[in-house]
Amino acid sequence: MDQQTVVAIDGPSGSGKSSVSRGTAEVFGFRYLDTGAMYRAATWQILALGIDPSDSHAVAKAAERLVIISGTDPVSPTISVDGTDVGVEIRGDTVTNAVSVVSAVPEIRAALVVMQRNEVSAGLAAGKGIVVEGRDIGTVVLPDANVKIFLTADEAVRARRRALQDSEREHVGRDDEATAESLRRRDQIDSQRKASPLRPADDAIEVDATDLDLAQTIDAVVRLVEAARA
Ligand code: C5P
Repeated sequence: MDQQTVVAIDGPSGSGKSSVSRGTAEVFGFRYLDTGAMYRAATWQILALGIDPSDSHAVAKAAERLVIISGTDPVSPTISVDGTDVGVEIRGDTVTNAVSVVSAVPEIRAALVVMQRNEVSAGLAAGKGIVVEGRDIGTVVLPDANVKIFLTADEAVRARRRALQDSEREHVGRDDEATAESLRRRDQIDSQRKASPLRPADDAIEVDATDLDLAQTIDAVVRLVEAARA
């Protein structure tokens, strides 16, 4: 396998992008970049600076102050803001409820896209392929990616998986319907924003994971990566 392969995996919230992307990166010995974690970290920093996330002018002004470092080992990815590990905090409700509004601000996107492309270049320079997951990777961030996948699943399945993940992480029960509502809200903002909306790239291959478990989904993606490189 050519170590220079770049794999873009986009899709809506709860489609399993993170687990599938990490699993795929592990199979090939590639790096892994979670751009959703970067938008969450940016949101965490905006909140920590005392900025109202819905004040797009203030959010835009803060874009140049973002200092986000991503650790790209798929076995234990890390994310920090200005030296502070925020891996746990960025998954909480406060960040989750604000992240789509912050992510819709073009200046925030511009700043993070530069960081994302730098991370990919660093991986390739080190002789490593990379799997990059997000919403706009195949369309905007890496339009020349070797493989583009759009991962989907029915909304009810996505909500159930996300509620289960949240419950396991926080050791409290999560309601599927409340989780579904939160996913719907985020997907709506993500798909309808002007700057880099969530949509499949024209040359993306769609993988529907509704009836697949994690291992089967990773398998499907691994086969697509192998086929694209053959
Ligand atoms: O992937 P995750 O659900 O952690 O992403 C959190 C949010 O970050 C998304 O709902 C979206 O608003 C934003 N995002 C984005 N572009 C990306 C990745 C994530 O706008 N490439």
